[in-house]
Amino acid sequence: MKINSAEFIISNSDVSKCPKDPLPEYAFIGRSNVGKSSLINMLTNNKNLAKTSGKPGKTQLINHFKINLNWFLVDLPGYGYARVSKKTKETFQKFITDYFEKREQLVCAFVLIDIRLEAQKIDLEFINYLGEIEVPFCIIFTKADKISKTKIDSNIAAYRKAILANNWEEMPQYFVTSSLESTGREQLLEFIDGVNEEMFKNNSL
Ligand code: GDP
Repeated sequence: MKINSAEFIISNSDVSKCPKDPLPEYAFIGRSNVGKSSLINMLTNNKNLAKTSGKPGKTQLINHFKINLNWFLVDLPGYGYARVSKKTKETFQKFITDYFEKREQLVCAFVLIDIRLEAQKIDLEFINYLGEIEVPFCIIFTKADKISKTKIDSNIAAYRKAILANNWEEMPQYFVTSSLESTGREQLLEFIDGVNEEMFKNNSL
């Protein structure tokens, strides 16, 4: 897929105020600092679309970007950041769970995982939550440029083990990415293109 346009539409913390367009929508979520903004900017070829910031936990909103006029990329707040005060932070904030449970246009969630780290409890909890509410999702491993190919393979093998230990029957579809080197860009956009085609063909939205 070639990116011809990427336009910021709206930010809010209320799923009922998200755009009404019946367009397929892809949500990006992960722990703060996982590299989500960098990935979104890399995917859309736009250095400033999503705000990369030194202050994780800052963007506490659902951000809609319209891509090529026919699908939405949704940038969700990072979860699990300790400096967000207890009051504003439940494990996953209500407006985020509302989004996943109510947003009919959502066709796939991308859960971002830093490829360097061993499986984190909060990510596994979130993956299990998506399973419970039956939202289709893929894993995106980020920052692949930071470790060797061998280490990438062994970390993914370890991740698969952690997923299976959480009662999943198989490893979900996953992508290995580096925003620094644009690794995984083509594969991700191809995947989205394929799902979009299915959605439009079946008139699903
Ligand atoms: P977010 O909080 O999840 O949106 O994360 P950011 O995109 O702001 O990235 C957090 C930090 O990781 C920043 O210092 C980025 O420069 C760095 N980073 C993000 N993606 C990559 C990557 O693919 N490779 C490398 N080496 N660093 C990255």
